[in-house]
Amino acid sequence: MLYRLQIALVFLAPVLLLAGLYVLGDALGLRAPLLGRGYVIRVPLPDAGATVGLPPVLGPADAARPLVVIDAGHGGHDPGASGAGLREKTLALALARALRDQLLREGGVRVALTRDDDKFLVLDERAEIGRKLGADLFLSIHADSAGDKEAVSGASVYTLSTRASSEAAARFAARENSADVVNGVPLVNQDHEVNAILVELAQRQTQEQSDEFARLILREGEGTLDFHPQAQRAASLVVLRAPDVPSALFEAGFISNPADAGRLASPEGQASFAEAIARAIRIYFARQAGT
Ligand SMILES: [Zn+2]
Repeated sequence: MLYRLQIALVFLAPVLLLAGLYVLGDALGLRAPLLGRGYVIRVPLPDAGATVGLPPVLGPADAARPLVVIDAGHGGHDPGASGAGLREKTLALALARALRDQLLREGGVRVALTRDDDKFLVLDERAEIGRKLGADLFLSIHADSAGDKEAVSGASVYTLSTRASSEAAARFAARENSADVVNGVPLVNQDHEVNAILVELAQRQTQEQSDEFARLILREGEGTLDFHPQAQRAASLVVLRAPDVPSALFEAGFISNPADAGRLASPEGQASFAEAIARAIRIYFARQAGT
């Protein structure tokens, strides 16, 4: 019994001491520690006016700096291509982050990722994030698989085909979204035909810029990135359909090819990807600023 009391006292002693300090503290001029009041939890809230649900824009606070939105393909329940223990969604995110970090290290360019975790985004949402953030450039990152054709390898750059581009412009002009502003012109209260022409013109200019960006990726990647023999391609891809954001999709290589897979999954391979693409982005922005 006595033993138990001793143990209880060992545990109670600090509590009794503290209680004593509170009671007698003032009289004796001692200050009892105020538990739990020494720190404040700060939760970052989006800036006033920022749209909820949009990813953060990183880099210089100066909104005049060009903004590139990097889109890691797939995510969540959609793993994309897979093979050799690798999944496209994971590789795409690693490459997107490597490119973001490279651009932020070099400075001068603002960067946002459509996703920075393993979350699923529908295709329309990805291009829309670029538009809503006012992106100057949009790059979607993917990796491919050729099934059991292990020999197929190399990266490719896709832009929207001319036909898909024209169809996308017509679809965009017809969607009658009152919030749509293309090249600074609100589409609301405009004649349908005028809207169609405005969007078509914007899309055509965007297409030229997208193709120029794709050529720069091929040029700057030469010698360090391993390209597919037919590396510049055009296709009808939903993520590239924004009428006023120059966009390209980079297929970084084939997971089904052991050399490509090893390169894409290694920090060295990801670094050389990031260096080459960051260079292409910088040259693209420099040219745009000069025109
Ligand atoms: Zn993909």
